[in-house]
Amino acid sequence: MKELIVGIDLGTTNSVLAVSIEGQIKVIDIHGQPTMPSCVGLDSSGKLIVGQTAKNQLIAAPDATILSIKRKMGEDTKVRLGDKEFSPEEISSFILRELKQEGERQLGQPLRKAVITVPAFFNERQRKATQIAGELAGWDVVRIINEPTAAALAYGANRTADETMLVYDLGGGTFDVSVVVVEKGVVEVKASHGDTHLGGDDFDDLLVAHAIAAFKARHGVDLAGDSKVQRRLKVVLERAKCRLSDEPFVAVREEYLDGKHHLEMELDRRAYEALIEPFLEKTLTCIHQALQDAKLIPKNLDKIMLVGGSTRTPLVHLLLQQRIEVEPRWEINPDLIVAMGAAIQGAVIAGETHHSILVDITPHTFSTSSIGFFEDDERLISVPIIPRNTPLPASKSEVFFTLTDHQAEVRVEATQGENPLAEQNTLIGAFMVEGLSKVPSGNPVVVHFDLDLNGMLKVTATEKNTGLAKSVIMDTRGAHVLNLDQARRNIDSLLGPIDSETVGTKQAESDGELEADAEPEEMLITAKDLRKRAETLIQKNVDLSDADEVRDLIHRSAEAIKNRDWNLLNKSNAALGDLLFYLED
Ligand code: AMP
Repeated sequence: MKELIVGIDLGTTNSVLAVSIEGQIKVIDIHGQPTMPSCVGLDSSGKLIVGQTAKNQLIAAPDATILSIKRKMGEDTKVRLGDKEFSPEEISSFILRELKQEGERQLGQPLRKAVITVPAFFNERQRKATQIAGELAGWDVVRIINEPTAAALAYGANRTADETMLVYDLGGGTFDVSVVVVEKGVVEVKASHGDTHLGGDDFDDLLVAHAIAAFKARHGVDLAGDSKVQRRLKVVLERAKCRLSDEPFVAVREEYLDGKHHLEMELDRRAYEALIEPFLEKTLTCIHQALQDAKLIPKNLDKIMLVGGSTRTPLVHLLLQQRIEVEPRWEINPDLIVAMGAAIQGAVIAGETHHSILVDITPHTFSTSSIGFFEDDERLISVPIIPRNTPLPASKSEVFFTLTDHQAEVRVEATQGENPLAEQNTLIGAFMVEGLSKVPSGNPVVVHFDLDLNGMLKVTATEKNTGLAKSVIMDTRGAHVLNLDQARRNIDSLLGPIDSETVGTKQAESDGELEADAEPEEMLITAKDLRKRAETLIQKNVDLSDADEVRDLIHRSAEAIKNRDWNLLNKSNAALGDLLFYLED
């Protein structure tokens, strides 16, 4: 058995441990969660605590808790924890030791070797300090790699054709952007730029200031100088901020904030995004700087990859799309991607040749529709709620407003497809919400989409001011078979006729759950696609032994279809898919 070499993202805010097991990159849960706060503390009995437990006492015991030690790595300094002093390396080693112990417990075997990531801008001293921290924790640090390189590896950089990528990393405390070039399988950071004091923490501070101002306006009490209140608000508002990435409004309530009054306020995503936009503008300036250093222009970029929790903010995607004109990739969880890339590097060092990351994403955009302008005409336009490539399960909402005074009802549609015009996309279902309040136009209605791994879409529309709501569950699985007859003919022409009884699809309905059994049909369509790709590949002179394997799998797939053995077809699809993943450019 090969020795496991783990990958560690030793982050400012959170740390992550990942490893390749049987060719599959897996993130190891630490204390039940995939990410562990990079937080170290002493509890009331003086015992060392690491991770979420330490973070939980941050408000109550700030002197006995340390967060963001990464910022001090490489400095000749000490930090105080209780009545003792520690170097940044020592504090980081507590985090790395916790990952080691928890990882060993989860996997039931000793872990010794690790690849640890650092920001591309880290100098030699900071890299050395990271290595020392690892060794103090009992790791054999086999390599220190750059975070953007790890992110690029997670997206299969070492297996793809030559590419130029931009890694946009917006975390809690820092922003980094790197231009990464892949040439002949070698991943290299060409240029890096960033701001070591720009990230989600700044956004939290803006929200805290906003809440303190609102509290003062309402109750006449100024809490600006009260550090305990500020810390309390930061925790609550950080949570609310994260929810704003998926919801248009978030209600915040903190009881007895000043000992007498409650804080009650509502955050609005649009207002929040307007607040942080100047920070995001700075990140765009950094991108241009990095591109300039690499002697490139945005047009030269093949991909943008998103890293760091703050990239979940919808405005980040929008700005990158509009201003750099490259759609950002975020199929891989931005909190986990760096550790996964480090685990790939670990697997490569350990001599593994096959490693992959499984991601469940939606390949289509799910939208609702609303009256809007398209090429100067008033039309029913698509308003994306869950964009394509969103990891599943996904849960997102948007707000819409009634158009006329006393509007008593609204029609809510769910469509699938990429066209800006609703009518050009596939309608999955629609329903009416009746009995809205008799109020002037502009009455907000929140439309919420919940899409699960099985393709069931729950659509809920809620009149914001009254809570009047209606939910409908729709089956999206049949929806992408735009023309069933056409699909059948395609399959027949390639694979021979299929017994029509086995290929059932159901039209999505607007009410109630569906029991569609679309699996065989989807498998057949997948089989057809895979077979086409496999044959193209064989024609392209792949290695002889690979070609034999591909042929064998095509044969197995055909046999499975002939015998209507869906289980076998599923397996041969998976095997062929995997093989193509490695062989295709
Ligand atoms: P990282 O340093 O990559 O762990 O990122 C941590 C930062 O991401 C913190 O500031 C979090 O508040 C922020 N963050 C995490 N999840 C979200 C989210 N869903 N929306 C916006 N920010 C988030």
